[in-house]
Amino acid sequence: MSVIDEVKQRIDIVEVVSQYVKLTKSGRTFRGLCPFHSEKHPSFFVYPERQSWHCFGACNTGGDVFSFIMKKEGIDFGEALRLMAQRAGVSLPSKSEPSAKKEEKERLYQVNEAAAQYFHNLLVSSQAGEKVRSYVASRGLSPETITSFQLGFSPNSWEALKQYLMERGYTEGELLTAGLIIEGEGGGSHDRFRNRLMFPIYDVRGHITGFGARALDDSLPKYLNSPQTPVFDKSGSLYGINLAAAAIRQQNMVVIVEGYMDVITAHQNGFTNVVASMGTAVTERQVSTVKRRTKNMIFALDADAAGEEAMLRGVGYENTLEAEVKVIILPEGKDPDDVIKEDAKIWQKLLEEALPIVDYTFNMVTANLDLTTAKDKTSAVDKLLPIIAEIKDTVRQAHYLQKLARLVNVTERNLEAALPRIKPSPTRRRAEEPKPEAVAQALRPVFSSPLEEYCLALLLQHPELKALSQQPSPEYFQNSENREIFVAWQQASDLSSLKAELDPAIGEHLDYLLTKSLPPNQIEEKYADAVLRLREGFLRSLATKREAALALEAELGGTAAELAKLEEQGIEVSLQLGEVFTQKSRRVRSKGAEK
Ligand SMILES: [Zn+2]
Repeated sequence: MSVIDEVKQRIDIVEVVSQYVKLTKSGRTFRGLCPFHSEKHPSFFVYPERQSWHCFGACNTGGDVFSFIMKKEGIDFGEALRLMAQRAGVSLPSKSEPSAKKEEKERLYQVNEAAAQYFHNLLVSSQAGEKVRSYVASRGLSPETITSFQLGFSPNSWEALKQYLMERGYTEGELLTAGLIIEGEGGGSHDRFRNRLMFPIYDVRGHITGFGARALDDSLPKYLNSPQTPVFDKSGSLYGINLAAAAIRQQNMVVIVEGYMDVITAHQNGFTNVVASMGTAVTERQVSTVKRRTKNMIFALDADAAGEEAMLRGVGYENTLEAEVKVIILPEGKDPDDVIKEDAKIWQKLLEEALPIVDYTFNMVTANLDLTTAKDKTSAVDKLLPIIAEIKDTVRQAHYLQKLARLVNVTERNLEAALPRIKPSPTRRRAEEPKPEAVAQALRPVFSSPLEEYCLALLLQHPELKALSQQPSPEYFQNSENREIFVAWQQASDLSSLKAELDPAIGEHLDYLLTKSLPPNQIEEKYADAVLRLREGFLRSLATKREAALALEAELGGTAAELAKLEEQGIEVSLQLGEVFTQKSRRVRSKGAEK
């Protein structure tokens, strides 16, 4: 069994998706509000039996657990696989990057370093930087802080940085890849960051991966970041981690805030275990970066952000990391920066009084309820019991069950009886008790698709097939690893560039496909058949899923518009299936004629 299969066997898509989406069980499927588009009526479905998901709403797309994580966390296949492998406790072959890729990254770190040095010098010693110096002084930053965070100033010029770096031997292409310059509409290129206070963003090893930049005038956006590059990915970066890593380990605690200035002010005041998620909700990747240093996390949330979703995520992180997540809620309208500057003791006190995330959720849910009335008791149980059901640690689960029972004055036994109905236990058992190899093998057909693999193996072993006009669409491949290889194959010129392009973690699967034994002759014809069958399989599974959605919609009394939309999608699928059948019968007829 390949590592990818092993990960798939140990991960349950319902559990993974539940960390992001509040799912409700209906029949054999789960449904919820789509996390990828905004909607009021749930059209997002998860299918435990197929370990797949599908959105029948605006997205009209779906896939397996990897494609879900890739989309949700904004990461590539290799990173998603690593994240899920970690969660499943499966070790992957170590990531030995091809040397060309390594060199490119090294070069990008260098160019970022040179840019940061340039911006920093302008801030501390140029005449143009004078105004910025007084601005940062007015925000209370000391010269030592400016040096340790290597803050800088990007001048109000279209080409200053570009010229400076090109004189030092960096090419325009490298500057573009690093996101330091952007291509203009009429050709040419210019500096991305102009007239801004610059915050270099470091990784934990001290490489500069990108920049954050705050406007010094009324320019919008107020905060601008480097774009995604081979070395920078905002959702996986934590601002300040290079300076905070040691303290996080020492104090066995990390505090996660939102903004650059929050981190800087905290550090200047001696709170050196603080990092920032840089304006986004904390992602699983960010959490996994600090997890190696501590399992105690405090999220500093502003009152608006402290919604139910944040709570569910927090509980999810606790489960995956066996971590303890606490939250502090900031005073209305204030950032940590404001709080600390006003009085560091208040910040200290907030930290000391940080509440475990589940306790905080209890407070939040019950704040506006009158727990002497039956109606509000039910409402509290409806909201809190699913959260308690999520807690994996049985001791903690029992603790909160007791707390809820006391709160609504119901016996624990009654609440406990309701737990299994909320959370089906088979999925949990599967994650905890790895199956013996034999059973795992028998399960395999559920997770891999022989047809997808056959089709890909033909393509990979017979480069001449690339010239054929009838090719599958990437979405026909339901398994992310196959889809990933197919897309890379479409773009690659030959096998060696395909290998260089693909993440090493997928190498094992690629080798398997390259050595799979195939029929000796009539390759073109067999390939055309396989593509057709692949399309048919895709459409059929779509039709089945759609029918189930439609039935459910009708049962739950969906609106006419929603039903019409599903009907419309259904007609489209039937038309395409009709097309497949016509092509199939044409092929059968022409084969007959040949004989
Ligand atoms: Zn959607």
